[in-house]
Amino acid sequence: MWPWIEKSPTRRYAFAAVVAVAASLLHWLIFPLTQGRTSFIFFPPAIILVTTIAGRGPGVLVALIGVFNSALQKDAESLLVFNSSEQVAVIASALVAGMLIWVGDYYRSISRRELHDLHELHELSATLVSIPKLPDQLRLILVTFARMHGADKGLISTVDRQRDQLTVAASIGFSPAALEVVGESNVGTSSLARDERRRVIIEDTETDPRFAPLRDLARNEGVRAVHATPLISRDGAALGALTVHFREPRMPTEREIRIADICARKAAVFIERARAEERVSERDRRFESVLSSSGVPFVVFSPVRDSSGKITDFRWSFLNSAAARVMRCKPADFVGRLVTDTLPRAWNDRGRFELYVEALEKREVRETERQSEADGNQAWYHIVATPLDGDLAVWFADVTQRKVQERALIEADRRKDEFLATLAHELRNPLAPIRQAATIARNENATEAQKRWSTNVIERQVQHMSLLLDDLLDVSRITHGTLQLRKQQTDLQSIVSAAVETARPLIDERHHHLTLDVPDHLQMNGDPLRLAQVLSNLLTNAAKYTNPQGRIRVSAWQEDDMLTIAVEDTGIGIAKEDLAKVFGMFAQVRSAQDHAAGGLGIGLALARGIVELHGGHIEAESGGAGQGSRFIVRLPNVAAVRGDPALAGARRIGNGTAHRRILLADDNRDAAESLAIILRLEGHDVELAHDGSSALRSFAALKPDVALLDIGMPQANGYEVARQIRATPEGASVLLIAITGWAQDSDKAESRAAGFDHHLTKPIEPETLIGLLDQP
Ligand code: ADP
Repeated sequence: MWPWIEKSPTRRYAFAAVVAVAASLLHWLIFPLTQGRTSFIFFPPAIILVTTIAGRGPGVLVALIGVFNSALQKDAESLLVFNSSEQVAVIASALVAGMLIWVGDYYRSISRRELHDLHELHELSATLVSIPKLPDQLRLILVTFARMHGADKGLISTVDRQRDQLTVAASIGFSPAALEVVGESNVGTSSLARDERRRVIIEDTETDPRFAPLRDLARNEGVRAVHATPLISRDGAALGALTVHFREPRMPTEREIRIADICARKAAVFIERARAEERVSERDRRFESVLSSSGVPFVVFSPVRDSSGKITDFRWSFLNSAAARVMRCKPADFVGRLVTDTLPRAWNDRGRFELYVEALEKREVRETERQSEADGNQAWYHIVATPLDGDLAVWFADVTQRKVQERALIEADRRKDEFLATLAHELRNPLAPIRQAATIARNENATEAQKRWSTNVIERQVQHMSLLLDDLLDVSRITHGTLQLRKQQTDLQSIVSAAVETARPLIDERHHHLTLDVPDHLQMNGDPLRLAQVLSNLLTNAAKYTNPQGRIRVSAWQEDDMLTIAVEDTGIGIAKEDLAKVFGMFAQVRSAQDHAAGGLGIGLALARGIVELHGGHIEAESGGAGQGSRFIVRLPNVAAVRGDPALAGARRIGNGTAHRRILLADDNRDAAESLAIILRLEGHDVELAHDGSSALRSFAALKPDVALLDIGMPQANGYEVARQIRATPEGASVLLIAITGWAQDSDKAESRAAGFDHHLTKPIEPETLIGLLDQP
């Protein structure tokens, strides 16, 4: 209603006329009662009402009508009488009307200004929210603030947190030189307001001592009064100050204080908001830079939904550089695009999409391990999907290495199981013929020839078993790096002959044709026993994996400073993909297993180990299944000069001339007795004992030349017996030989420490023992 009246002068005067006429009518209504005595009573409220609403002019109009109306109600004659009560009453009414107009006008101007202020502040709020940047927001606040003060200079200073100093964030009306001084000084009114965290009023810059440092500046800029209001954050911290500068000395009015508070509050809110945003974006930046520099591929997916809200795909919303490397893209190539558009096969990996959807909808972390085809390199990833503000954060840790190792472990485990089964089989195999041969030998009706045959069988089988065990021990030594080579200048032909001698029974049994093409001048520096072991393994394999009547050829030649030995056969051959595998420990090619009485799968591993210990190299060649195989050994350090071949470790087989008194102690009676028979057959005197203490007693009684002691015996073990024997006067010179299943270097060191001269590993080879006994 009021704004409608205010819109035009006509409406305002019409309103005044209506109110005046109404007041007049009221007077005339009560005239019969009052007879004109209270002829002005309704006009004061009418004048106030019209002046405050419609302004001074309409108020004057109401007053005039009121005074005129009042005069009308008086007696016209007495009105003309000077100083008559009627005349005084009308004049008083006019004076009251004038006063009321002044009061009404005063209130009207106050209320209009307040309305105007409200309007300005409202406009300010409305505009501020549409301005994105803090400096522009502060400038608008400052401009509005100064205008409402009728001032042309003002500043908003904010605290520079790094330097803990105020800097000018927005200014109007100052020269650049002044801004430079104000911006860098910590002495101005703004600083005071900020430090004291309350309003600072410099009523007159010329007289206020607080303003002394900047007085000259104020004079130059035409400033005489400064009012500063601190900008206080919600938690009470001083963020800066808002100042307005006047050309004349003055104090702020109530209204100005209110406006300053409102504007300061607004500025503080926007500064705080900007700082919070800065913090958030700083955190985001840090988060992003940590994620970007992380070696773990990381992506954030946003779900894409259909009209029913169902997730149909995901959109890349972030990917770090590690993830981009995996996808072979730049992050910018993928961000914002659909997964199906960028990696069309991504969801072919069954269950992966469902897993992401589940993580997102159940708001739970989901983990899985998958092989990714998406990136084309078949890598394995450990994937962790975590819901993140409606999106999905996904980490992919590359676990390919671990998977490969796991598989290798599983494979090694499988091979170990297979090996143990084979080992059991291989060890049990010779037992049947041994048992049968023993039965035949025991049979009274057996002929001498049958008994000899049985003995041969037993010998051959035992030989086979001990070869197996030797191989096993050697492999273990190679693995632990404890295999020692006894290198010497050696003739290759004698090595080949020794190997052929070992493999001969099998070659003959399978009727193979063996060709040797080894020049007799080839010499090398190596361990002859070990190299013979390598070649006998290759020859035995050739015999095993070649059908009867096959051909086997051993050839050797010299190439620069390398000696090359090749063992070829016309056997079952090796498939290309198995060529590299056959040298692995316990490696056996399936097809070969059924083919021939297999071994333990360690022969080639052992061969490779020994060749490499010599600084050489071994490799297999084959045209494939059924095409025969060729194993090539290359050894360095060839001496092409004929030297004196002397095979180290050549067994010294006894000539049976030295007869010794021997104490043989072993709790395994069979082993003890069979060895005793062999030794007696060689012409030695043998006394048996089956535990430690009886061994010591027998030693005291017999005073033997040699004591053969088992280590693991009841009552006193071999070490103790040896120590006690060595402690006696007769024991000092006796030849002490340990016979044991323990063959580690540490076992040998222990037996040496206990006083043993020799350490023989079970099953002992009779020739070796006899050789030792024959030594002078
Ligand atoms: P094994 O005790 O099984 O013979 P090796 O280590 O000596 O163990 O050989 C490993 C595997 O290599 C054999 O199981 C066989 O499959 C293959 N192999 C070795 N030599 C030959 C060969 N001359 N011809 C075909 N296959 C062979």
